[in-house]
Amino acid sequence: NADAAMYRAKELGRNTFQFYSRELGEEAMRRVDLETRLRVAIQNGRLSLAYQPKVSLKSGAIVGCEALVRWHDPELGHIAPDRFIPVAEESGLIISIGDWVLRAACAQARAWLDKGLRPICVAVNVSARQLLQQDFAVVVLRCLAETGLPPELLEIELTETLIASDTERAAETFGCLSASGVKLSIDDFGTGYSSLSYLQNFRVDTLKIDKSFIAKMLSDSGNAAIVRAAISLGHNLQFKVLAEGVETLEQCRFLAEIGCDEVQGYFFSKPVPSTEFEALLSMRDAQAQQLV
Ligand code: C2E
Ligand code: MG
Ligand code: MG
Ligand code: MG
Repeated sequence: NADAAMYRAKELGRNTFQFYSRELGEEAMRRVDLETRLRVAIQNGRLSLAYQPKVSLKSGAIVGCEALVRWHDPELGHIAPDRFIPVAEESGLIISIGDWVLRAACAQARAWLDKGLRPICVAVNVSARQLLQQDFAVVVLRCLAETGLPPELLEIELTETLIASDTERAAETFGCLSASGVKLSIDDFGTGYSSLSYLQNFRVDTLKIDKSFIAKMLSDSGNAAIVRAAISLGHNLQFKVLAEGVETLEQCRFLAEIGCDEVQGYFFSKPVPSTEFEALLSMRDAQAQQLV
């Protein structure tokens, strides 16, 4: 009887093992395939950037934009950053993607200046591996010098999780960048499970409240409380506060009421190609209307 039970357990164990190894095998293969395609895409210049406006709740004006990487694969079609950024992080490809994004975003913001548009600050997302490379500050400063973009027109977005992974290194790198005028925002604020003390060691320009809280704040009082708390925390530390993922007028009204400074989200615009962003900007400036 005991033998039979042991036998069943072994069988079960073996099956479970086979099940997992097949699953892992497929997952690993998908990753390798994605990594290979991504490598080719980088070489062939198949990445692009989309720009999403950041809008002031007080004036209704566009106050900046976030550059978001886009990848279109000839066979797989559009692949979302949430799928390929982790692959790029693991394989190290994030360094070349990150360099490309930084350069393309700075060059675009400079081109806007050259076209006579008013100065627009462009925000770039930076991932852990990229920030922790030996000379990240030098890479950024060189990119600014080479593209001719004034440092105040570049903003770097970092997540709390990233900062927590090596706070000292991040603070050192950012000390150098903020001294040069580059701005810093904290992305996905509230989702990082990290202590808040790091906030004192960084010259933060803007706290970006994660979209998960914004999505639920009107239906759930707990989420509304978190949004209010984040706004007063940010303001007490002299930071601006932006709400991510704003999709409705009701959300805008509520955020204006509780003192949020800026919004970003589908309500105003999806991330769009640079020419569409230019059109949005001139349209918005011509109307100069309030958002709420
Ligand atoms: P993120 O930095 O928090 O960017 C905001 C994401 O929210 C973007 O997704 C944007 O399209 C999406 N979004 C904007 N408004 C709304 C809205 O109203 N509703 C909803 N549901 N979503 C909205 P995207 O472009 O797919 O990027 C996802 C994440 O991938 C980014 O989150 C960022 O962490 C990462 N990422 C994107 N581009 C880059 C890049 O160039 N470098 C690095 N390292 N990471 C990037
Ligand atoms: Mg971001
Ligand atoms: Mg975010
Ligand atoms: Mg994110």
